[in-house]
Amino acid sequence: MSFVFAPHAVNCVPVHGSSLMFPVHRIYCVGRNYEEHAIEMGGTGREAPFFFMKPADAVLLPGPDGAAEMPYPPLTSNLHHEIELVVAIGTGGKNIPAADALHHIYGYAVGLDMTRRDLQNEMKKQGRPWCIGKGFEHSAPIGPITPAAQLGDMSQAEIVLNVNGLTRQKSTLAHLIWSIAETIEQLSAAWTLQSGDLIFTGTPAGVAAVVPGDLLQGQITGLQPLRVRIV
Ligand code: MN
Repeated sequence: MSFVFAPHAVNCVPVHGSSLMFPVHRIYCVGRNYEEHAIEMGGTGREAPFFFMKPADAVLLPGPDGAAEMPYPPLTSNLHHEIELVVAIGTGGKNIPAADALHHIYGYAVGLDMTRRDLQNEMKKQGRPWCIGKGFEHSAPIGPITPAAQLGDMSQAEIVLNVNGLTRQKSTLAHLIWSIAETIEQLSAAWTLQSGDLIFTGTPAGVAAVVPGDLLQGQITGLQPLRVRIV
């Protein structure tokens, strides 16, 4: 087969403790999945889950020194951090019951759903799609994936984001409104999940702006930390 131009490279995330790479298919994101964050965004805290997507090439990986460099994106003056647990799907499926959902997970990682909040808010106000606020280049920094087989139960893990050494977001996965398994059930009712899909599972309260020079450090118990410098 001949291509009109060379196909774009597959976007990959490294697997911790291995030379394997996890090839990314799609990036799904869950909106408002921690009650206090839902309230800070103007919701009631108890709403059915909703989803949006980022392109696979929004993935931003740490460089050789362990920190990812995220260029401050254009068109915004209010770039927000959202620390999130990322679920990496190993086995796809549709209409996956919550009781079976964990068997479809390859592993977990720490991710940041970086958001042009001013543009997202403007789109919300106008009832227009969020793409410009959520789906831009480098908007999905992600740390190495740890295989689920190497992890225990994640449901009580602590999730923390520090900016320049100060804690901005801190919660536990026990505070997810829709659990990881319930999220997979709901998502797979709407789309056929495939191996390589990533799911950003939502952020706890405390989202706020960052500026060039800031160092973001995200941690979730048991996972490799994620460091991102805004440049
Ligand atoms: Mn988010």
